[in-house]
Amino acid sequence: MSPAPTAQPWNRKHLLDLQSLGAEDLTLILDTARSFKAINERAIKRVPPLRGKTVINLFVEPSTRTRISFELAAMRLSADVINFSAEASSLKKGETLRDTVRNLESLNADVIILRHSASGAPHYLARFARAHIINAGDGAHEHPTQGLLDAFTIREHKGRIAGLNVTILGDILFSRVARSNIWALLKLGANVTLCGPPTLVPKVFEQMGCRVTWNLEEALRDADVVNLLRIQHERQRVTMFPSLGEYTALFGLNQARMKWVKPDALIMHPGPINRGVEIEGHIADGPQSVILEQVTNGLAVRMAVLFLVTGGRADEAG
Ligand code: ASP
Repeated sequence: MSPAPTAQPWNRKHLLDLQSLGAEDLTLILDTARSFKAINERAIKRVPPLRGKTVINLFVEPSTRTRISFELAAMRLSADVINFSAEASSLKKGETLRDTVRNLESLNADVIILRHSASGAPHYLARFARAHIINAGDGAHEHPTQGLLDAFTIREHKGRIAGLNVTILGDILFSRVARSNIWALLKLGANVTLCGPPTLVPKVFEQMGCRVTWNLEEALRDADVVNLLRIQHERQRVTMFPSLGEYTALFGLNQARMKWVKPDALIMHPGPINRGVEIEGHIADGPQSVILEQVTNGLAVRMAVLFLVTGGRADEAG
């Protein structure tokens, strides 16, 4: 069973990263998300906690799952939701992010959900914003709600996180998903192994408390969870390995390599999947994959985060 809900109340205005959260904060969010998951399984899925509040999705980088998930999460909590498209906005006419946000606040935005290519952009907004800021992915830094939904999915399947062996395989260096997963999983007591080409998985990650190996068989054999990451081409300014074909040949998860993976290990991926590159399509669609459950759980986790940062009490969720 998962840990009992903690008595500690949520007392943060924003959700900027997982690095600064403790195990109790993380557990509180996961427990709150469990209540919201139950609501999402009801016939009537809308609840009132954010009625009268305005949530703005400020996405200055592409997104499919995260943007739709935050939009639906806010709607399920009865907020008014505005989706801001950077491409069609005055950011294209030279307006600064600060000015854009101050204008949004003049319309009484209560929550601003920011995705940005610059690491630290949400922390910068939090220095002056009146609204609650939620980080929906900042450069290669963090993607806190992805780390939370991954932890939620693992806990739901395995009943715990402490003591599990979690392997994160792929482009660790440029991945915000990797960093948020590492922070959350280590704080919750998992053993985290990182694997991929040495240029994308440098030994320096050991300083965070992870095991680093470039040997795929070793990384897969004792894993209870294998989380696969896409190559983050958009953030690589120089070539980090000879070719995608070579990456797939050395590190792609294929049928032959599945014999190293325990039969009850979870196969995870934050999406978007590049089928045939980091994972063969039939494995992504196969019985060990929980990739679509991650998407389902993301909605509950984002409802929990919106609820808690705006002052909701965990024992009142649901
Ligand atoms: N969707 C995730 C992110 O925004 C993972 C990825 O793009 O590879 O970081």
